[in-house]
Amino acid sequence: MSTVKIARRFASLQPSSMIKIFQAASAVEGLINLSFGEPDFHTEPEIVDAAAKAAREGCTHYPPLQGFEDLRKEIAAYWKRHHGLETDPADILLTVGGLQAPHLCFQAMLNPGDEVLVAEPCFSAYFQQVENNGGVVAPVPSREENGFFPTAEDYAQAVTPRTKILVVNSPCNPTGGVLTMEQALEIADVAVRHDLFVISDEIYEAFIYSGKHIPLSSLPGMKERTMTVGGFSKSHCMTGWRIGYAMGPAELLKVMTTLSVSQTFGVNTLAQKGGAFALATQDEKVKARTAEFEKRVRYCAGRLNAMPGVSCPEAKGAFYLFPDISGTGMTDEEFAWWLLEAGKVAVIPGTAFGASGAGHIRIACTLSMEDLGKAMDRMEEALKKRG
Ligand code: PMP
Repeated sequence: MSTVKIARRFASLQPSSMIKIFQAASAVEGLINLSFGEPDFHTEPEIVDAAAKAAREGCTHYPPLQGFEDLRKEIAAYWKRHHGLETDPADILLTVGGLQAPHLCFQAMLNPGDEVLVAEPCFSAYFQQVENNGGVVAPVPSREENGFFPTAEDYAQAVTPRTKILVVNSPCNPTGGVLTMEQALEIADVAVRHDLFVISDEIYEAFIYSGKHIPLSSLPGMKERTMTVGGFSKSHCMTGWRIGYAMGPAELLKVMTTLSVSQTFGVNTLAQKGGAFALATQDEKVKARTAEFEKRVRYCAGRLNAMPGVSCPEAKGAFYLFPDISGTGMTDEEFAWWLLEAGKVAVIPGTAFGASGAGHIRIACTLSMEDLGKAMDRMEEALKKRG
């Protein structure tokens, strides 16, 4: 008998199918890895310099719990400049990665058994965060013909008297979908009608290739019921710095801040200084990288559509493609494992993001055009060989 007695609720905790692919992929020699949801670009050297300068000047003490005020002002200015959103810097809380923001929100709001509508396919961390905080996940399925976002009817069917929060992510990981104004208004209508709070994960806001980014909190009746998740990981290639933020009602942020005291006690000071510099100086570089990602997703979608059994809609945002591979006769799980073996290319099975992802795979276009070209060649060859 082990002396380590894991809590009953985690006794059957297993790595997700995404983690299993990551692990298997790391052992494949010569692999081209299209499974990682992070930009391949390093953080710009001047951002690193700004953080290093702050360190040398003694910015090495505990941070203010809510985050430095100058950074919160930069975040508010960034959203005003790019998306026309008015935010009071007092309504912003810095978090450890964007990832900590929904976790703290669930922790602050969920009573045991409260239900959370999660539009899927989605970033699967939400599922675990809801469960870890005593909530019950109510996945809301979607269909490809609706750009992989649930419709008003889909939400209406999933709402119960226990529903408290609705989670949606646009631009979307894993589908590359971007909410239209009509879809965004439908979500607002569902939220207002059923008195739901909304977590709107907008971490990919910088990457839009068609349509427009609509901050859900900017819609009528939404500001007081929305927490927006934002970050630096994707837009400013700062995944390793572990910094992000929540924008939302002050009364919620206050509780989230108090909860964070016993967990993280604020966010790394140097990451905050680097982040403030990044928001103030990098708009042109963000734009250039967005154009590069657009080139990549368009190229890969074109290549994928020429492959037997594969059909790939254009990505509207983020840097993912979510092709339908059901025409190959394989399930998404089978396909991902087969491709790892037969083509030495790693992708993620669609069902890792929820049941609606069945028959699809997620391809992260986070490698150079040259490597993406090689990956597409390998995939095409492997499929042709299979016949
Ligand atoms: N939301 C979504 C939709 C994501 O894809 C990710 C990262 N893959 C995050 C949040 C978390 O990002 P961060 O690195 O800022 O914690």
